[in-house]
Amino acid sequence: MFRLNAVRASHFLPSLFLLLAGLAAAYVRDLSVFFTSLFNVLPTLVLLLGGAYCAVYRRQRELFLMVTVYIAYFLLDTQTDYYRDNGRVREDAAVVFHLVCLLLPALYGLFGLWQERTHLAQDLLARFAVLFAVGSVALALEQSFPEALLGWLAEIRWPSLHGQWMSLIQMVYPLFFLVLVLLVVQYLREPRPLHAAQLIGLIGIFWMLPKTFILPFTLNIMCSQVMLMIAAAVSHEAYQMAFRDELTGLPGRRALNERMQRLGRNYVIAMTDVDHFKKFNDTHGHDVGDQVLRLVASRLSKVSGGGRAYRYGGEEFALVFAGKTAEECVPHVEAVREMIANYTMHLRDQSNRPQDDTAGRQRRSGSAGGTVSVTISIGVAERQAEHRNPEEVLKCADQALYSAKGAGRNCVMVHGQQSQRGAVRMS
Ligand code: GH3
Ligand code: MG
Ligand code: MG
Repeated sequence: MFRLNAVRASHFLPSLFLLLAGLAAAYVRDLSVFFTSLFNVLPTLVLLLGGAYCAVYRRQRELFLMVTVYIAYFLLDTQTDYYRDNGRVREDAAVVFHLVCLLLPALYGLFGLWQERTHLAQDLLARFAVLFAVGSVALALEQSFPEALLGWLAEIRWPSLHGQWMSLIQMVYPLFFLVLVLLVVQYLREPRPLHAAQLIGLIGIFWMLPKTFILPFTLNIMCSQVMLMIAAAVSHEAYQMAFRDELTGLPGRRALNERMQRLGRNYVIAMTDVDHFKKFNDTHGHDVGDQVLRLVASRLSKVSGGGRAYRYGGEEFALVFAGKTAEECVPHVEAVREMIANYTMHLRDQSNRPQDDTAGRQRRSGSAGGTVSVTISIGVAERQAEHRNPEEVLKCADQALYSAKGAGRNCVMVHGQQSQRGAVRMS
């Protein structure tokens, strides 16, 4: 149920940075005119830019999260402006403040947990209908029965649980706690930057609300930061989509192309390819094939010697060693080849899969007991005077890989070197 192995600190870092920057900025006293003016327009600016960004990427969940935060900001800002100008709160301040404290976490949680549907127009309409309905009911109640509503909101329902530190109405605390738990569960089930940003954003809102009338600009700063967290998570995910391979989690072909543009004078590229993978898929099914690709990727990503693994495409991976010679890299490449060849993978369910074990020379085997093993072939090439650019070096590595396949697979070949016998065969 929980995918703990996919939890990453990097999902939280941008949001945590924005939260800390927001906390620090909120405590700064005697702001200059520049910052005062900036903080006055910042939430609107962030909403417009972030909202446009989400709209372009068709991220409605994030758009509605931002709009919710902005509406709360707008309602409370009207109150704090009045308070600052007149030295006292407006007569409807208490009921508006308590309503926002209740509805903000509720709607934030709802929109945060509400996954996008396939029909974008329907999804947009449904979200808008919820926001409109909640807003209209709250406004109607506030206009028609302000006293009764205030009494209901401010009532202390559980006196034994009431603490002196509680500066918000009592029922807001269990609500925040519930939303926090739901967002944590959502993150653990599907660890991704947006879910992490929603969590940190909720903490920011929880910290902000009691300080609304106490610390000037807390509201402007923290609402802007929460909207920024969401916009940053959208761009983080867009970056991952472009540069990461979803199946294996390794950086993909685009990331490799980018890395190849700034490799410096000495480097080595190793191309690796899983042996007889097509037959492997035919025998064990595509799902087991995918499992194997993940396994190979995870082993390759742990290659020593400063190498970095990329998924080149299909069952081909590239290893890049910057500032190294082929001679230095071969032992590391050889170690990873051996590690993969010696690893036995246990299949989850063998019952409905054919036990075809007549693959002859291929080293992987669907052997008894539901275990399989795979091998990889590797071609290594380094930058040389005659192959100056990375594309040429990669082509050489590919040729060496081809030789490795010809030499019987499950071996490492180095481009342009004499043939030798042994674990490492040279082409
Ligand atoms: P060789 O030892 O010569 O490399 O043989 P091979 O069968 O591995 O060679 P080939 O390149 O012809 O086959 C690659 C196969 O990899 C084709 C396709 O079925 C499989 N493949 C490519 N991408 C994926 C993927 O993402 N998942 C799975 N399960 N299979 C994939
Ligand atoms: Mg291939
Ligand atoms: Mg292959």
